[in-house]
Amino acid sequence: MATKSTHGKVASATRKVRDRGAKKATPENAAAVARGLAQEYGDAECALVHRNAFELLIATILSAQCTDQRVNLVTPALFKLWPTAEAMAKAKTTELEKAIQSTGFFRNKAKNIVGCCQKLVEQHGGQVPQTLVALVKLPGIGRKTANVVLGTAFGIPSGVVVDTHVTRLCNRLGLTKQTNAVKIEQDLIKLLPQEEWIIFSHRLIHHGRRICKARKPLCGVCMLSALCPKVGIEEK
Ligand code: SF4
Repeated sequence: MATKSTHGKVASATRKVRDRGAKKATPENAAAVARGLAQEYGDAECALVHRNAFELLIATILSAQCTDQRVNLVTPALFKLWPTAEAMAKAKTTELEKAIQSTGFFRNKAKNIVGCCQKLVEQHGGQVPQTLVALVKLPGIGRKTANVVLGTAFGIPSGVVVDTHVTRLCNRLGLTKQTNAVKIEQDLIKLLPQEEWIIFSHRLIHHGRRICKARKPLCGVCMLSALCPKVGIEEK
C-alpha cells in the first residue's frame, strides 16, 4: 500500500493535461497573441513559392496532406511544363500524375487540378477568380484554399486560413475550443480585426513550425508563454 509521501510523489510524477476550458477567449487575448507574433515574425509570408495567383492555387491544392517544402520541390518543373491554366487544362492525366506523385494523393490531386483548370478556362477566361463564392465552386478548392489564394495572391481578407498548425495553436492558446476548421475560423473572425486575418495565420503557421510543434512544443523558449494557457499540453 502506498504511503502518504509515496502518494505525493506519484501525484507529482503524474502528467496532467491542462484543462481545455481554462479561460474564455477575448479580443484582448487574441490581440496580445497577434502582437507577440508580429514582433517575432514581422515578415512572415506564405511558404508556398509562387509567381502569380494561378501558381498559388495549384500549389495550395498540392499542399493537402503534404509539406510546403515538398510542394516547392515539385512546382518549378510543373509550371515549366504547364505554365498556365490553358496548358494545364489540356495536360494528360498520367503525365500530370507523374509530375506530382511525390506530393501524395496524386491521382485525386491530378484529377482536381485538370478539372479546376478546365473550369478556369471555360468560366473565367483562364484567370483565377477573386471571390470566395467562385473559388469554392472549382474542383478541389475548399474554403481554406480559397482563403489562401484570396489573402496571399490578391490581398483580399475573405477569412482566416485554418490549417493543421492554426487548429493546434489556437486550441493551445485558448482562442478556440473547436476542432472543426470552419468553426475555428468563425471564432477567429469574431476575435480578430479584419486587417489581421491574412497575416495572423501566416505568423501562426510559422510559430507552429518553429516553436509550438505538434509533439513537443518548446514552451520554454516561446515568446507567447506568459499569455498562453497551454491548453492540452502535458505538465510534468
Ligand atoms: S507556450 Fe507552448 S503551447 Fe503556448 S504557444 Fe508557446 S509553445 Fe505553444
